Amino acid sequence: AAKAAGKNRFLRFHPDMMTALVERTDLEAGLQMAIGRSEISVDFQPIVSPRMGRVVKFEALARWDRENQRVPPSVFIPLAERSGLINDVGTEVMAQSLKHMASWLCEDPSRSLSMNVSGVQLQELDFAEGVLKLAETCGVGVYQLVFEVTESVFFDADCNVIKQLSRLREAGARVALDDFGTGYSSLGRLQDLPVDIVKIDKTFVSMVRTGDERLPILSSMINMAHSLGLTVTAEGVETHEQANYLMGLECDSLQGYLFSQPEPADRLEHALKNAGQALYALARRSG
Ligand code: C2E
Ligand code: MG
Ligand code: MG
Ligand code: MG
Repeated sequence: AAKAAGKNRFLRFHPDMMTALVERTDLEAGLQMAIGRSEISVDFQPIVSPRMGRVVKFEALARWDRENQRVPPSVFIPLAERSGLINDVGTEVMAQSLKHMASWLCEDPSRSLSMNVSGVQLQELDFAEGVLKLAETCGVGVYQLVFEVTESVFFDADCNVIKQLSRLREAGARVALDDFGTGYSSLGRLQDLPVDIVKIDKTFVSMVRTGDERLPILSSMINMAHSLGLTVTAEGVETHEQANYLMGLECDSLQGYLFSQPEPADRLEHALKNAGQALYALARRSG
């Protein structure tokens, strides 16, 4: 009887499953039309250099406002990847990002723009060429661009992924390894990856506050990255304590709500002001 009940549990098509299926199909159809309906936009979050005392970079983060309801990227990006729509979404996000950030970037060649790229996009044969053309059209230097990828893009060992990233790096762009520490690869593997920047995942940054016993990993990650000649950014910095701790470990740049939330392009000044104030407070505290 127990076995029958167990079997039943898996066989019965629960109404929730139907709802989930309909919702997903619905969401996918919605995403297909989202670009044409101008529902996709981009928010920008500052990345600061405590040493230089200023905002050195912005990360572009995709937003989808579906009939006045915001769908989080953690939902629509995986959906876009599964359905192949990620190429269109990615192109749209990149075009908007470059357009909005062009003047800020042109004012100072040491400023840069960081954009998230999915492994699916990197499987396109003309991905890098498309990016280079777009940068030229917008008058933005390729050396001012950073492409954020997760470790998983390297797993499939697709030659084209490496080829596209190499093409961009040859043109002067940098590649950042996003969410570092959450994947499966070891610290040692870092050496073999074609990356310039490591972005330490916020789960490690949050360990500072909770006094987690795995905290020593944080300094190991930063030291290892530095010894390989990589630059380190910490994400999810929410408190002064975390920022001070990371500065003590000589983390190169910081990103998180302490400095600013991701903001739409028409609020860049606001984001810059908030980040500047937080940097000022940090400098005063550390004397
Ligand atoms: P990510 O690239 O690691 O981006 C950082 C995420 O952390 C963003 O979430 C950001 O809003 C959030 N965040 C920033 N500061 C803090 C903080 O102090 N505390 C906390 N708790 N969170 C903070 P968001 O915008 O929801 O994006 C989630 C993920 O979706 C991104 O993670 C990225 O993997 C993906 N994504 C977003 N936009 C794009 C895109 O245009 N293309 C691709 N392929 N992926 C994207
Ligand atoms: Mg990112
Ligand atoms: Mg990240
Ligand atoms: Mg993340």
